[in-house]
Amino acid sequence: AKQEGKRRIGRIGPCQEPAPFARQAHIRRRLPSAIDDSALTLHYQAVLDLATGGDAGVEALLRWHDREIGPVAPDEFIPLAEHTGEILRIGAWVLDQACAQSRSWIDAGTPRKIAINVSPVQFAAGTLPADIRAAVNRHGIPARMLEIEITEGRAIADVPSAASQLRELISMGVGVALDDYGSAYSSWAMLRALPLTTLKIDKAFIRDIDSEPHTETMVRGLIQTLNAMGVRVTAEGVERQEQLDILRDLGCNTAQGYLISPPMSPSEIRMITLNNIEDKQ
Ligand code: C2E
Ligand code: MG
Ligand code: MG
Ligand code: MG
Repeated sequence: AKQEGKRRIGRIGPCQEPAPFARQAHIRRRLPSAIDDSALTLHYQAVLDLATGGDAGVEALLRWHDREIGPVAPDEFIPLAEHTGEILRIGAWVLDQACAQSRSWIDAGTPRKIAINVSPVQFAAGTLPADIRAAVNRHGIPARMLEIEITEGRAIADVPSAASQLRELISMGVGVALDDYGSAYSSWAMLRALPLTTLKIDKAFIRDIDSEPHTETMVRGLIQTLNAMGVRVTAEGVERQEQLDILRDLGCNTAQGYLISPPMSPSEIRMITLNNIEDKQ
């Protein structure tokens, strides 16, 4: 959380943002060596179980700190990495890191479920279930400690193949979440086609849930429908107590957002409970 939002500019421009083009060119040049330069890290954001008020695990989020231009947001470099194919190496690194973190939490007596974001590009090769099976075996962690988050969209080129890989993962015990539901490409077709254990409602809905009656009605219906399908629902981007209260009333299963905790480095992150949050108010 400490470095979030802070910008440090090096050679590219001593006291100002580099021009967008120069910045992009720099990012493009640096991307292939970001892993080897140890410039990538994973931060973890706590997920709160709204029924019990206890811990429901964490989501792993990539952070890139470049030695010249400072922090580079995932929204800036993930699309580029998907375009160049570098996302395959990055995705493998994220999986390995998350499994190593899971192992060390298990060893410390504080096991926590970890969700990792997976790019649609990673489905193309068809090896995701085998890769995940190998990673959990290598680190000796139970597959049920892992969840993958996928963002639907045009990029899932072969939906039947993705669906069969997801089915295999679910049968191994890995959770499968559909991320950002309600943003650009969300559809009922995807809800029917993809086997899921969790659906994550996009922050745009949560932002307006306490001010727009239609939004609350839609979220209520979504939770009822998904729970009837046996799918758990997570609310993303919870920033205010009012939103959390509504989501609990609506029977939403889990919640994530700055109100609960920002993403933090493994050394900073703490177990969160509903009591902690209410005490802070
Ligand atoms: P996402 O998976 O939907 O992650 C949630 C994003 O919302 C994160 O942004 C998180 O920092 C931010 N967030 C959390 N709580 C709040 C809140 O209360 N309010 C607001 N406004 N935002 C909140 P971040 O870390 O910048 O990541 C952006 C996106 O980049 C992620 O969206 C995900 O799609 C992608 N990404 C991140 N890490 C990875 C990765 O390891 N692999 C892949 N393929 N994509 C990743
Ligand atoms: Mg996500
Ligand atoms: Mg999301
Ligand atoms: Mg997103």
